[in-house]
Amino acid sequence: MPDPVARIRKRLQQHGADAALLTDMAHIRWASGFTGSNGVVLVSDSLKVLVTDSRYTSQAQKECPDFDRFIAPASLYECLRNFGLEDTVVAFDSERLTVASLKDITRLVPDAEFLPVPGLLNQDIAKKQQWELNRIAEAQSLTDDVFQKLIGLVKPGTTEKRIAAEIAYLHLKNGASGMSFDPIVASGPNGALPHARPGDRELKKGDPVVIDMGCVLDGYCSDMTRTITIGLARDDFRAAYATVLAAKNAAVASARSGMNARDLDAVARNIIESAGLGEYFVHSLGHGVGLRVHEWPRVSSTSEDRLVEDSVVTVEPGVYLPDNWGVRIEDLVILHPDGCDNLTSSPDSLLELTG
Ligand code: ZN
Ligand code: ZN
Repeated sequence: MPDPVARIRKRLQQHGADAALLTDMAHIRWASGFTGSNGVVLVSDSLKVLVTDSRYTSQAQKECPDFDRFIAPASLYECLRNFGLEDTVVAFDSERLTVASLKDITRLVPDAEFLPVPGLLNQDIAKKQQWELNRIAEAQSLTDDVFQKLIGLVKPGTTEKRIAAEIAYLHLKNGASGMSFDPIVASGPNGALPHARPGDRELKKGDPVVIDMGCVLDGYCSDMTRTITIGLARDDFRAAYATVLAAKNAAVASARSGMNARDLDAVARNIIESAGLGEYFVHSLGHGVGLRVHEWPRVSSTSEDRLVEDSVVTVEPGVYLPDNWGVRIEDLVILHPDGCDNLTSSPDSLLELTG
């Protein structure tokens, strides 16, 4: 599988550009291996350059031995003058550069033509190499382990915040470098808000609890949601859970690369609509996962994206009954032409915590 620089060079041909300017730190890490917080990467047929600042001299040397490295004395962009960009076309991802930065760049390098391409490298970044897939699998495996440990801590009287703190602590204690997003622990009626923030609400018997969590391990993210109940579930919740689970399983069973993302969304949405709950499935089915927990593609009913081989996406249908409860079940899968591998091993049948 061609390395990132080879992929970028191929992409340049497609856009008739001479060079690519990468300004997003996740894209820069993907292309060069650099994990610092400040830098730009320039790739052309003859160049592969990382520009960063003096805090990162030795780190850049260690992480990017194959790149030419430049330490910018002041502005990173000013340094771009050194690379013979006069009369060339330089493509950049217009979704990843601010208007202010573009103004700076065009002022400092006036003789180059800067070509905005929305999502320039989206498909290249989505298509993971085997070692990247392994890292995502390891991150998800850690999250599965944490879920197992967490179940013993979810009890009546515990608050959402405490559970969220345990989620972070258990991940960090077991090797994660951080959380891929702030954990969501949404109990009872709070579960009806798909992106609820954990609060001081104490868990009560009969509450469904939506737990959505993920970590960063070696730079790569995990993402999983499970909805459990404290004690026995109410019948209306139980029925909705069965519907969401059927939608999730059907989508996982039909997920493969080459299909339109919106068709995958439709597999889950049709099942939820047939059960009369369509109006309560208020978000898209999923999203790409990699160096960021939300990356291209969008798996939604309006998505124009086509699913890419060896990419990782979530499958996360949900139903949210305002003021009552919510249920979401989210797995993480690797897409292949003939199906997908499910990276999530936590049980997905309804877990009713009695005891
Ligand atoms: Zn999630
Ligand atoms: Zn997600």
